[in-house]
Amino acid sequence: MPPSDTSKRPTQAEAEQAVRTLLRWAGDNPDREGLHDTPARVARAYTEFFCGYEIDPAALLRRTFSEVEGYDEIVLLRDIRFESHCEHHLAPIIGRAHVAYLPRQRVVGISKLARVVDAYAKRLQIQERLTAQIANTINDELEPHGVAVIIESAHECMTTRGVHKPGVSMVTSTMLGVFRENSDTRRELMAMLNRPAVCEY
Ligand SMILES: [Zn+2]
Repeated sequence: MPPSDTSKRPTQAEAEQAVRTLLRWAGDNPDREGLHDTPARVARAYTEFFCGYEIDPAALLRRTFSEVEGYDEIVLLRDIRFESHCEHHLAPIIGRAHVAYLPRQRVVGISKLARVVDAYAKRLQIQERLTAQIANTINDELEPHGVAVIIESAHECMTTRGVHKPGVSMVTSTMLGVFRENSDTRRELMAMLNRPAVCEY
């Protein structure tokens, strides 16, 4: 994805003006009291929703650890909650990501995997690309034996508009390396994913 050209980035005032236009488009009056501060709030919310454009996800994975006592099994981070927005309707996508890799000597701090998920989630997305971007970045940076990313999420553009189908979840996965090539490794991952949590946190 090309990074946004910040030299062409609109000013805060221009962003607020655009929100006023949308409020008028919705049929309301942006000058009434309750909406007075809404454009500024929405602009601030956008910087939070889309902060991922400011983050280089690959850089998050550059610090690795090699003293792993020969650990050569799957590392799985389950149930990483994320919030994203669909690029077609700007509607929220709320979901969970499961990220696994089979290390080749080097491992990364697990919080970094969650940060990579957020760095891509906090952009305008479609779920298929989000899934692939997370997997490809981990694959390129850590060069592990394999990477698996599975995402389940609900798309509010489907629940609150259009076909109006609440309760539908979308599941996508990207499997690379041994997770793609070796059905035993994939099966082991699925068993780890389906295992009930062993302790309450
Ligand atoms: Zn949508």
